[in-house]
Amino acid sequence: MLNIVLFGPPGAGKGTQSERLIDEFGLVHLSTGDIFRSNIKGQTELGKLAKSYMDQGKLVPDSVTIDLLRAEVLKHNKPKGFIFDGFPRTNAQAEALDVFLDSIDTSITLMLSLDVEEEELKKRLIKRAEVSGRADDADPKIIDNRIAVYHKETSPVKSFYEQQRKLVSIEGMGSVDEITARLFTSIKSI
Ligand code: AMP
Repeated sequence: MLNIVLFGPPGAGKGTQSERLIDEFGLVHLSTGDIFRSNIKGQTELGKLAKSYMDQGKLVPDSVTIDLLRAEVLKHNKPKGFIFDGFPRTNAQAEALDVFLDSIDTSITLMLSLDVEEEELKKRLIKRAEVSGRADDADPKIIDNRIAVYHKETSPVKSFYEQQRKLVSIEGMGSVDEITARLFTSIKSI
């Protein structure tokens, strides 16, 4: 299987690039943010819980997120592989993912980490808010919180994969097509 963690701060382009990667490599796209948003729309208990954190730009607790991720992976029968988008976001999630993938005889192949300057991230999120309708994109205070949470809790996940020699940093500035080309090149050179 080809299992990729697509990593980067909010606004790095993970969702956009995931769509292109699943088309090219026939992978399943698993975005924990998307799953939480569809639960919010469906007014499920999980959605209500997730919303209380997302509205503040905080992370949903690990136990909830890890259980959800495991259940989503198991929904797919003999997939070619997964793109994990927005997961793992803490070291505890990364460790749990390794243990879980091992239990189903697979593992993470590669972490592709998109590097984008902070000013550019904020610009992209504000632009995205105009079309996404996402409350957490529209409010500069929530954006700042999400970026702070990224630096404190999420960016250490890079070292986790670096220690396993699976981290590849990708220049995330430039056009969508340019960034896609860089990602394709990295995956094809495995
Ligand atoms: P995203 O769509 O990836 O930007 O995620 C939107 C929000 O969903 C985040 O700001 C978190 O509140 C929540 N979320 C998504 N993925 C995770 C995760 N792996 N762990 C904890 N919270 C998450």
